[in-house]
Amino acid sequence: MESKDLYRHLLGLSEPWTVERVDLDVAKQHVDVYVEHPNGTRFACPECGQEYGVYDHLATRVWRHLDSCQFLTYLHASPPRISCPEHGVRQARLPWAEEGSRFTHLFEVLAIDLLQAANVKRAAQILRISWDQAWHLMERAVLRGRAGKESALPRQIGIDEKAIAKGHQGRKPHTVGRQ
Ligand SMILES: [Zn+2]
Repeated sequence: MESKDLYRHLLGLSEPWTVERVDLDVAKQHVDVYVEHPNGTRFACPECGQEYGVYDHLATRVWRHLDSCQFLTYLHASPPRISCPEHGVRQARLPWAEEGSRFTHLFEVLAIDLLQAANVKRAAQILRISWDQAWHLMERAVLRGRAGKESALPRQIGIDEKAIAKGHQGRKPHTVGRQ
C-alpha cells in the first residue's frame, strides 16, 4: 500500500478528500500529511445543508493527529468556503475535526480517554501537548456534554466536572490506564 493510501485509511478520509502528499521528517520526527479535494467539488452549507461550489479557500491549517510510530503526525489542508444566499460565506464542515479545533477527532478521543485516566499534566506529557491545550480539550468536552448536543465525536464521551476540578488542583499522578 502506498503511504498516501495508508494515510487516507488512517485518517478515515472519504470522498471528496484524498491525501495528496506525505512528508516524513526523520530528524524532527514528524509526519506531515497534505489533504486535498478535487477541483469542482461541491460542499454543503453547514447551516442548511444545501450544496454549493467552492467560493474560496482559507489559508492552510494544521491539525495534530494520532502519532505514527512515535512520529508527531499533522494533517494539513485549506478549508473550503461556500457562499450560501441565506447564510453567507461559511466554511464547509471538515470530516476530520470540529470547527475551531486544532486536533483531529481521533486525537481528541484519545486525549479525553487519557485525561480521564490521568491528571492534566501527565496526560499532556503523554500526548506531547501543552498543559493549556490539554485543559482546553477537557473544557470543550465538558461544554459538549453541558450543551447536551449529540457529540460529533465517533463515540460518547463521559466526563464530569468533578474530575476536572480534581485534575486542576494537581491530583497526584497515578498509573495511566483504565482502572
Ligand atoms: Zn445555508
